[in-house]
Amino acid sequence: MTRKSKIITAVSVLALVFGAVTIYYKNRMVYVPNVIVGAGLSGVTMAERIANDKKEKVLIIEKRDHIGGNVYDYKDSNGITVQKYGIHAFHANSERVWTYLSRFTAWHNYRHKALAETSKGNVNFPVNLNTINQLFDKEFAEEFTAKLLAKYGMGQKISISDLQNSEDEVLQRGAYIMYEELFKNYTIKQWGMRVDEVDPSVIARVPIYLTYEDAYFTDKYQGIPKFGYTAMVQKMLDNPLIEIRLSTKWEDVRGKIKYDKLFFSGSIDTFFDYKFGKLPYRSLHFDITQLPQEYYQEMAQVNHANHPSMTRSIEHKYLLDEKTDHTTVSFEYPEAFDGTNERYYPINKPENADLYAKYQQEADKLKNVYFFGRLGDYKYYNMDQAVERALDLYDKVFKK
Ligand code: UDP
Repeated sequence: MTRKSKIITAVSVLALVFGAVTIYYKNRMVYVPNVIVGAGLSGVTMAERIANDKKEKVLIIEKRDHIGGNVYDYKDSNGITVQKYGIHAFHANSERVWTYLSRFTAWHNYRHKALAETSKGNVNFPVNLNTINQLFDKEFAEEFTAKLLAKYGMGQKISISDLQNSEDEVLQRGAYIMYEELFKNYTIKQWGMRVDEVDPSVIARVPIYLTYEDAYFTDKYQGIPKFGYTAMVQKMLDNPLIEIRLSTKWEDVRGKIKYDKLFFSGSIDTFFDYKFGKLPYRSLHFDITQLPQEYYQEMAQVNHANHPSMTRSIEHKYLLDEKTDHTTVSFEYPEAFDGTNERYYPINKPENADLYAKYQQEADKLKNVYFFGRLGDYKYYNMDQAVERALDLYDKVFKK
């Protein structure tokens, strides 16, 4: 053998050994007592509890390249904290949830308010007694308000469908105009179906408040994490017992990880390889636009019921009261979930509930695999509900 061929042989052997070792390590079974799929609020709450309370190791598998799921935010080149996946104004009545999250963040005192664009200009939204004065002429507004207060009482909360079903002509007429100006086309765009196909609980999320106070929510606890949601979530994950693998799909690693318990906050149909069919979701896309002006609109959120395709414009600097001479606005457009975009909203329809129930039955047969979160439970949770559900599940599994 010449010296040259000896070198070539040695290099080839080394490359082979290196390749074999790499393949071995890549395919080697990893053992972790707890695996969590999804690094959104649900998964992160579970990880925090297991690591900090139970003091066990956790591996989080997250398909996106960042933590936080749909509450993820980042500072853009305007110095503005942008909520990438749409507006998330935190609100809760649960002291338990508020106290829990407050361990990981201070709060910017923000109480959410919104406007809605109508043929009479921008009006306060959700509807309250001020909205009625903005939307109707003085005479009708007075009559409508008097009838509302006589029937339901000051301070009460009602839904647009309560009014639509009313026998009284004035209440019916008021309801009709509000429905056309504020609810009908928004709902059709948002859900991509007829309004009568949308579960009434969905529209009842935005009630009619019989007060003169402009507020989106009446919850006791409200705010925005002072340094953003991503910073809050980072704090929750700040424990060496927690390992996170980003940009990793569960399907690609599931055969390679051994675990005692799996907490799955991805869509439940994906876990079962869609064996009964795909659970439908509604998705959104956002045009996030930087503008060379101090402010674009009067407050963080303006709804556009009668715009042909947009539902909301969100001006992010209002949320943490960030002062700059530029601004960043996201324009929000609902669309179908088609497998290439993100899942945002489970669609509350009887046939989808039936399909989900089939998966749930399969899930109940599994030992030590738990489903939770908006996608795991196929439920339209708000942030506080997602956190509470994760806390409850942790207690149920670990504190028996
Ligand atoms: N909605 C509406 N007009 C609006 C805002 C909301 O008709 O200006 C209806 C619509 O059907 C929507 C539902 O109320 O899906 C709930 O709205 P919310 O703002 O709570 O939705 P999210 O913030 O979760 O997207």
